[in-house]
This record gives sequence, C-alpha cells and structure tokens, in this order.
Amino acid sequence: MAVVAHGGAGSGPARQTNLQVAVDLASKLLLSGASAVEAAVEACVILEDDPVFNAGTGGVFRIDGSVLLDASIQTSDGRLGFVIAMKETPNPIRVAADLLDHNINGLTGDGARSWADDKGHLRRQVDGRPPTEGDGDTVGIIVRDSSGFMACATSTGGCSNRPPGRVGDVPLPGSGFWVNERMAVAATGEGEDITRALLSYRVVEMAESDSCPSLNHAMNWCLENLIPTKASVGLIAIGTEGPGEGLANTDMPWASWIED
Ligand code: ASP
Repeated sequence: MAVVAHGGAGSGPARQTNLQVAVDLASKLLLSGASAVEAAVEACVILEDDPVFNAGTGGVFRIDGSVLLDASIQTSDGRLGFVIAMKETPNPIRVAADLLDHNINGLTGDGARSWADDKGHLRRQVDGRPPTEGDGDTVGIIVRDSSGFMACATSTGGCSNRPPGRVGDVPLPGSGFWVNERMAVAATGEGEDITRALLSYRVVEMAESDSCPSLNHAMNWCLENLIPTKASVGLIAIGTEGPGEGLANTDMPWASWIED
C-alpha cells in the first residue's frame, strides 16, 4: 500500500503541512481496509475543503470572478471520470468518482452540474479566492491499495488568470493524469504546457520502454524534454511496487506514505 500527493507547482510551506493531513487520512483508510478509490477520493475531499489549495473551496477566480472547478479520477482497471468547469460544487472529485460507475467518461459545465443534482451531490456556492501570484496550488493524490489496485484523483480551480470555459490539463486524460495496470501519474502546473506535451501519458509510455531504468528517470526526462523551461510543472507517480515519487522543475509540496 502506498500514497503520494502534491499540493501544486510552486513554493508553499502551509500547503506542505496540510498535504500531510490528506496523506495521513488516505493511509489510515487503507490500513482499515478501504479501497484505493475510497482513500484517494476522501483524501482529495480534505484538500478540496482546505482553502489553502486551489481546489474546491479554495478554487481561484477566473478572470470574470467566477469559480469553476475541474476534477478527475482514473483507476488501474481502466475506468475514468472527469468533470470540467463545474459551478457550485465544493467537491467535484465526488462527482468525477461517481462517473466511474457509469458509461460516461466526462461531463462539463451546466450538464455536469445537473447530472450531479440528479445523483444527489452537494450543491453549494463556492466563494473561492483570488489567485496567489506565481503559485500553482492545485491538488493530486495517487493511492495503491492492499490488492495493488491504483487510483489517481486530481482537482483544481484552474491556473490563475484564465477565462471561464478554459479547459486545463486536470480533466484531460493523458495530460493531467494517466493510469494503467502498472503505474499511475498526475501532473500539476501550467496546464497548457502539460496538455501540449500529453505529459502524464508520455511519462507512463517512457517508463514502460525497455531502455528506461526507472519511473523517476521517465519523470525527469519528460519534465526536461517536453516542458518549456519557463513553465512550472510537477509530477507525482506510483508503480505496482515501492513508494510514490514526486518531481518538479520548481518547488512543489508533495508527501508520501508506504506501508512498512
Ligand atoms: N494544472 C492546473 C491547470 O492548468 C493548475 C495547476 O496545477 O496549478 O488548471
């Protein structure tokens, strides 16, 4: 069993402390028999409820002052769910996770919110906050449970200074996240650069190639070669064995846990 989480690309001592709370919760849940999906979702909810992070309650304003939230989850048995630009949804990860059990991969905007209403997901005004200049403070968490099953959950209000309707990497499969039976990867930072690089998928693809010595090597290579140097970007990843890893071309709060 293992957990790894990030609190966004950019420095953040407060986020480091608060991130640990989510990792601790995920590890406790795993030790009490929870599945990877349950542990990843509940840990992500803790981060969405913490105004320190640009996700859920702390989602940053778009340029028109709106708060529109993206979230995604993918599992190692090939299911995924993502929601884009959801309004009035403090915990978009719960809606994304609900999609895992339906033959719908993703929902956006008003359609996403009315589907969530039908399924009874909490609808409440999200106050949000102004962006913190220079810091990406979005969240991601990857969990491997006792059966080796993996789940990757990500959630964000989107990069600073973006218009309503802008789609970042977080809800885009292969860009902000990618999971297969052997590994799980999540990205954070400048969503446009991450998406152009199809970054999470490219890390998995490279890590699986015969010539690649390690997951960490693939993360490092992809950050160095697929992301422009001016863009702040980070990655977390986990394989079927060993601890989770975090790597960024800038400061990135991240925390991990592995069963001794
Ligand atoms: N990648 C996110 C986005 O572009 C933001 C972030 O990670 O800080 O929406």
